[in-house]
Amino acid sequence: SDVIGRIAAGEVVERPAAVVKELVENSLDAGSSTITVEVKDGGLGLIRVTDDGEGMSRRDASLAFERHATSKLQSDQQLGAIRTMGFRGEALPSIAAVSKVRLTTLSRQEQVGTQLWLTAGTITRVEDAAAIPGTSIEVLELFYNTPARRKFLKSTTTEFSHISHVVQQAALASPQVHMRLIHNGYEVFALPAVPSPRDRVLQVYRAAFGDRALAVDVQQNGLSLKGFIIDPVRARAGRTPQELFVNRRPIKNSTVQHAVVDGYSSFLAKGHAPLFVLFLDVEPQRVDVNVHPTKREVRFADNEQIHQLVRSAVRHTLGRAHI
Ligand code: ADP
Ligand code: MG
Repeated sequence: SDVIGRIAAGEVVERPAAVVKELVENSLDAGSSTITVEVKDGGLGLIRVTDDGEGMSRRDASLAFERHATSKLQSDQQLGAIRTMGFRGEALPSIAAVSKVRLTTLSRQEQVGTQLWLTAGTITRVEDAAAIPGTSIEVLELFYNTPARRKFLKSTTTEFSHISHVVQQAALASPQVHMRLIHNGYEVFALPAVPSPRDRVLQVYRAAFGDRALAVDVQQNGLSLKGFIIDPVRARAGRTPQELFVNRRPIKNSTVQHAVVDGYSSFLAKGHAPLFVLFLDVEPQRVDVNVHPTKREVRFADNEQIHQLVRSAVRHTLGRAHI
């Protein structure tokens, strides 16, 4: 019911950035080549994510707001081998439960687009729309019916910095997509499509990495680790990206975090932190992404092997730079 919907929503939608993350992931899953994120007042005034992906039929658009109505998981066996970002069918219903939503969409197979309005998760209006192929989702009055959640939020500046980080992470994981972020009418960044994750890392972190970036590139036992670390001896303090992607998903993982720190240990000057943007690819069967509703944590089948790979890759990369 309404209450259950709002409780479940709290797990997925902690703050505006969580809404942006889910909407952008859906746009990526829809095969978009351009994604525009527009927000007002740190996301509390408006969040609008517009893509040029596959769009939805009218039926699919209505179903998308029903709990567990994902189109992405065909059977239970697939749970071990998830390749799309979404798979639970929880995000849209959770977002809609705590806001007012307007969806505009057109799938390439249809002539007429659809516009849906929802309030607190219930569809209040359906109309034809002269849309262009793709999807645009607007989230208004976020947390209007959960005052406790709204009170917990920080300043619009802080909320916007979380949003900016989330969009940046999505951009890092998807270099082939043109990503734009607009806040209160001003373009904060525009990242045209680039051929590789490395190009994207340098596009995003040029200021922080400059020419000090050291490429990491190792394959071992079905594991692949790519990306950049910074030679800490010459690293500038202050800017410290620490980004880990597991199978293109932004992840917090203590095994990898410790392994990076271990790898850096004999090279790290006092007061410096490791800087890294690393992409770890693991066979989907060897990683459990089903740990937390927001999919920010993973569990590895073989922690020791991963720790060893990351630590020695970081150590060797830094060692080579110091010969
Ligand atoms: P999930 O991503 O886990 O499937 P969501 O609640 O995020 O669940 O989305 C529900 C469904 O809505 C998706 O499975 C997809 O079919 C559809 N959908 C959502 N956003 C988009 C989009 N931007 N483009 C096309 N389809 C979308
Ligand atoms: Mg989703």
